[in-house]
Amino acid sequence: MNTETTHSANVFESAIQRLDLAAKHLTVAPETVERLKRPKALLEVSIPVRMDDGSLRVFTGYRCRHDDTRGPAKGGIRFHPNVSRAEVQALAFWMTCKCACVGIPFGGGKGGVIVNPKELSHLELERLSRGYMQQVADFVGPDTDVPAPDVYTNATVMGWMMDEYSKIVRKRTPGVITGKPIPLGGSLGRDDATGRGAYYCIKEIEKRRNWDPKTIRVAVQGFGNAGQSVVRLLHQDGYKIVAVSDSRGGIHSDDGFDVPSLIKQKNETRTLKAVYCEGSVCELIPAKSITNEELLELDVDLLLPAALENQISSANAAKIKASVIVELANGPTMLEADPILAERKLLVVPDIIANAGGVTVSYFEWAQNRAGYYWSLEEVQDKLRRIMQTEFNAIYDTMDRIKTDMRTAAYVHALGRISAALESQGTAEYFSAS
Ligand code: NAD
Repeated sequence: MNTETTHSANVFESAIQRLDLAAKHLTVAPETVERLKRPKALLEVSIPVRMDDGSLRVFTGYRCRHDDTRGPAKGGIRFHPNVSRAEVQALAFWMTCKCACVGIPFGGGKGGVIVNPKELSHLELERLSRGYMQQVADFVGPDTDVPAPDVYTNATVMGWMMDEYSKIVRKRTPGVITGKPIPLGGSLGRDDATGRGAYYCIKEIEKRRNWDPKTIRVAVQGFGNAGQSVVRLLHQDGYKIVAVSDSRGGIHSDDGFDVPSLIKQKNETRTLKAVYCEGSVCELIPAKSITNEELLELDVDLLLPAALENQISSANAAKIKASVIVELANGPTMLEADPILAERKLLVVPDIIANAGGVTVSYFEWAQNRAGYYWSLEEVQDKLRRIMQTEFNAIYDTMDRIKTDMRTAAYVHALGRISAALESQGTAEYFSAS
């Protein structure tokens, strides 16, 4: 086994260990925990794609349905060179927990393709997206497993996949996938839902800690969909965004950045630069270049990992200066780092609640597609805010009640709902009773 395989196998093994920690705090049948340690189904596919130069490349893809007791599996599709079987399983497991955490009627799924999409032309990307759907079409569906975007996939990719599925089943089926373009049945408010959901969590922390936004310094690792949306909203409220990074590294300024200018620059040029823009004119402003590792250890109040998993480990957990971490990425904190952060009394809002805004609005999109009745942006955002506030505060109160860290509290909250569903079908205790 090479290092990468060992590392990725650990992603899933680590992920499921959190179940055992949670199970200590509530009455749950041992068989429930055992069931959740194994994904219900895992599909591996080969996707042949004709490249623009006439050659043929064959890509490996996965789709995992971790658990569907509470509803159809739900979870994104990732296009990334590091996608692996174990990573897809871990991400699917987190989706089961996340959907239960926010109380939406879905189980957990995830998919991915081992590819660097930056190397593909738009036509090659379309062929790959349609090819992926051709291979998984029997595995997914509006009542079985509903994919969505994830790292390096977006609304356009979802639109292609929905179109391909509709052709295969010879019926327009918008409910097979979420995160679609609005004209193809997407929901208003899905684009920034992940960042907005995290923002609603941060607003609850602001109330509980009497924060004055102007004094709160924020660093965000990852400046894509999730990272941009959350800091745009925080910046509007007066929070000081002092550090931002993408896959190539980061920028830092004690004075704070004008976030709309950074977003404009990043989205128009695909590069992250310290700029201030007036209209279409952007000029460079003073800032220090930093690495992604340095960003995590900056002297800030609020740290937002919004890139990939395994960023906070036992090597850097003791060096983190932020008092609050809100996990927009999935699995940014390794299992081994949790006790170090807990010992240091850092508040870590775990991924399964912090980034659940995305799947919540995906649920709204699926519900709208099935009803054929579409909601206003205000309706979507209001419903999202209510769910995030209710579930965040329930988890916070659980944390205080059982005197644990917020991650364990979130798993206890989720496991309570999953076990209620699984155990209502009977347990060993029920079936062995005379
Ligand atoms: P995205 O592709 O839009 O953006 C990812 C960003 O991370 C990019 O700016 C990229 O340059 C940066 N990045 C990649 N590798 C990096 C590295 N090593 N260090 C620093 N930055 C790096 O993806 P996204 O949709 O924003 O997803 C980001 C994270 O949020 C992922 O973990 C994803 O699973 C999670 N998430 C996203 C959603 C959603 O709705 N988009 C929902 C839930 C969770």
